Order: sequence, then structure tokens, then C-alpha cells
Amino acid sequence: MAASLAGISRSERDTAGLTGGGFCGMGGSAKLLTIMAEPRKIALFGGTFDPVHRGHVQLATLAQTALALDEVRFLPCQQSPHKTGSQPAAAADRLAMLRLATADLPWAMVEDYEVRREGGAFSYETAAALRATQPAARWFWIMGGDQWRALPTWRHPERLAACVEFIVLARDGEPPLPRAGQTLHVVSGVHPASATAIREAIRHGQTSHRWLAPAVAEWIATHGMYRQR
Ligand code: ATP
Repeated sequence: MAASLAGISRSERDTAGLTGGGFCGMGGSAKLLTIMAEPRKIALFGGTFDPVHRGHVQLATLAQTALALDEVRFLPCQQSPHKTGSQPAAAADRLAMLRLATADLPWAMVEDYEVRREGGAFSYETAAALRATQPAARWFWIMGGDQWRALPTWRHPERLAACVEFIVLARDGEPPLPRAGQTLHVVSGVHPASATAIREAIRHGQTSHRWLAPAVAEWIATHGMYRQR
């Protein structure tokens, strides 16, 4: 969003004290200023986060750095509509682990919109609702390359694409291919972490895991998570 003084009248500029002489020591003839107001850049990072691990945090960090994002909101879903099988851990636990894992990241926050909404929400509904709270911001959606390939099977991907630009990780070496009508930013970097592998390891008696932040591992141990699954 660019707010340019070129579009306002001389009298308005005078009222605002923006013509010759009186503004930041600029004298002489009137100088037109152009104030560039960059829109806030907010990214939503959806996932099950069961549990959140170092691969998720690395992807969020890559995206934040590459796009100079002001905010990355980790957005746990109720039950991924793209996954079948067992239910994820309770939302309260997944939220707590996300808060612990992101505590040191000043640009990160945990967005509980989907887990608070009865019946959950499709991504396009979430994006539209959150975007409406800050319509002047530039909104993004972060995902791994696997999800980018699956995006055409999501509910109304075109509505999601109308709300957000996509930031996609070339997770498994295959570069994400652009599609018409969808803005794509690619980041690359590989991290081997897998939430499934972490749950399996804990179920088999492991008490911690190198892919977990220590505070998250402690939460899992204290609350006896993933032992029975
Ligand atoms: P699971 O093993 O249970 O499928 P997951 O971590 O792949 O877990 P989600 O928690 O839903 O599943 O992932 C959230 C997002 O993080 C997805 O977009 C996924 O592609 C991405 N992601 C998952 N693991 C990694 C990783 N190791 N590196 C980068 N991105 C990842």
C-alpha cells in the first residue's frame, strides 16, 4: 500500500505542514514526499503438529526469512481432512507444545482459530475469516511440497488462493510447480523430522527425540503422550 502525497491538494498539504520549510528541516520549494507503508505480512502455517518438531520450525524460519514475514501463525487443525486414520492428540496438548516450541521466536504465534471452531474449518474458510480481521495485510499460507501437490484435492483451493499467496517447501527435492491463479513462493531446505516417526519412537519406549525441542519432549513425557498409540 503506497500512500502518496501527490494525490492530495495543496491546502491539505499546508494543513498537514508538509509543504516547503516546515517539515524535517527541508526548506525551499515544496517537496513531494511519498510515504511507503508496507503492508504487514502474515503467514498461516497449517498442520496437525502432533507433535510440533524441528522440521516445522525450520520451515517456518525459512519462510519468515525469505519473505521477511512479520508474523508466522502456527495453525493446528482439529483433524486434518487430508489424513485418514487415528485422531490426533488433544488440541490443548498440541497448542501447548506449539507455544513451547515457538516461545523464543519473536515473529511466531499460535493461532487457535481452527481448534476453537466447532466442527473445524476448511483452510479456505480459515484464511477468509482471518484475512477479514486485517484486510490491508498481505496474507500467505506455508506448506510442504507434499501438501502443495495435494492442494487441488482440498475444498475450494481457488478460494484459498484468492486469499493467500503460497510459500512452499521443496521438501523432497522435487520443486513445486506453479499453477495458474495461485501465487507461489518456493523455499528450500531439508529437515528429516517426521511426526509419525517421533510418535512411533515414543510408543516403543523412547523418552525423548532429537527432532523435538527439549520443552516439547518434557511436555510429552510429563503428560504420558503417544505411549499407547
Ligand atoms: P505426520 O508424520 O504425522 O504426517 P507431518 O509433520 O508431516 O506429520 P503436519 O504436522 O500436518 O504433518 O505437517 C504440517 C506441515 O509441515 C505440512 O505442510 C508438512 O508438509 C510440513 N512438514 C512436515 N514435516 C516437515 C519437515 N521435516 N520439514 C519441513 N516441513 C515439514
